[in-house]
Amino acid sequence: MNSIIKRSPILILLLVLLGGCSQETGTTSSPAQSASIEMTEQPVSDAAESEEELIARAMAIHDRVLTFDSHADTPLRMIEPGFDMAERHDPNDTGSKVDYPRMIEGGLDAIFFAAFVAQDIRDDEGNSRAEALGLQMIDAIVESAEENSDIVGIALDPDDAYELEDQGKRAIYIAVENGYPLGDDISNVEKFYDAGVRYITLVHSSNNDLADSATDPNGPEHEGISAFGEEVVREMNRLGIMVDVSHGNDDVFYDAIAISEAPIIASHSNARAVTDHQRNMTDEMLRLMAENGGVVQLTMLSSYLLDEAENPERDAALAELRASSKPASEMTEDERLAMREAINEINDRYPNPPATVKHVVDHIDHIVDVAGIDHVGIGCDFDGGGGIEGIFDVSEVMNITIELVRRGYTEEEIDKIWSGNLMRVFREVQAVAGRLQA
Ligand SMILES: [Zn+2]
Repeated sequence: MNSIIKRSPILILLLVLLGGCSQETGTTSSPAQSASIEMTEQPVSDAAESEEELIARAMAIHDRVLTFDSHADTPLRMIEPGFDMAERHDPNDTGSKVDYPRMIEGGLDAIFFAAFVAQDIRDDEGNSRAEALGLQMIDAIVESAEENSDIVGIALDPDDAYELEDQGKRAIYIAVENGYPLGDDISNVEKFYDAGVRYITLVHSSNNDLADSATDPNGPEHEGISAFGEEVVREMNRLGIMVDVSHGNDDVFYDAIAISEAPIIASHSNARAVTDHQRNMTDEMLRLMAENGGVVQLTMLSSYLLDEAENPERDAALAELRASSKPASEMTEDERLAMREAINEINDRYPNPPATVKHVVDHIDHIVDVAGIDHVGIGCDFDGGGGIEGIFDVSEVMNITIELVRRGYTEEEIDKIWSGNLMRVFREVQAVAGRLQA
């Protein structure tokens, strides 16, 4: 699918650097060269395949499949004054992990931008503030897509991504992370659907009115999904919004499976048997996810990918920094930048071994073993903490494909992982909505 148009000069350069410059001398980003890359395809079993050939084969696959990242918190950036999605940002200087130029470099075709609202006070005032902020972020997504309509487009249905890809554009889908902006008003579900939202993460790091969080320090409050949360899930089913259980505690997962008439998703969660973190899913949950027809989208958060070594010096330094800073919501742009720099400096001073793409594919291998190839996908969580060695920002997501190819995954399997599985769930969710509305 228009592989030549999509590949950026930087990608070609990277490809050539990784491949160690073979027959192509005097390298330019000419279409002829791109075409030659596709022709180097070889079967997986070819023992004689060089590293360079393997990368070329992987890049061709990466180009042909629809690559779809189910979770990015980039709308947080979009509402920062002066942040321009059309500009290329240096992730080391700015902390930014996604913009349109880097989506093109990484060969990412589609993305769910999640309007994320951090949990705060659950009263009328807090709820309406959350709703306004959620809608403000969605407006920012739409505005940014309109301003860059030559390279991206808003997508509402599964087919939209393929149509946009044919036009040489990236697909921008909209999600809400944390049901907090719904407040306690069921009519808000339709309001957000009408604004373009196609999945809602029921809860975030603290309990809300819908569901319990996996990480609330005060423990569970509803034993999973609340009565109102149940109403919300049913309304999501009726409208055709995917139910996302990432961040929910284990009971939320089981409740969602029981309540939802359509398959569910975990937009950014990993395997607990590989890395013991309460945000990850147990084997029992993975098996149930397969039975349900849902999908678990692998995420690039170091602490969900490998068991981190204790690092008390760093924890103390970060705690001290936070205690001496004002809340992020009250910071100016300069203050936020300074805060980020200070955090980076502390992380540099007390480093932990970072997770790598190998850890990511270890999790994928495990989920495939337990749940099967039809129930795993990718949701990087860029701009929400995601980013590891080798997949530090969106410009490097091709490294996932390279590692999948290295481990023997076929193009058909890689297509399922990158988008086929999520799209299957998306279509099924819409079909259920169609039946419920008939
Ligand atoms: Zn998250």
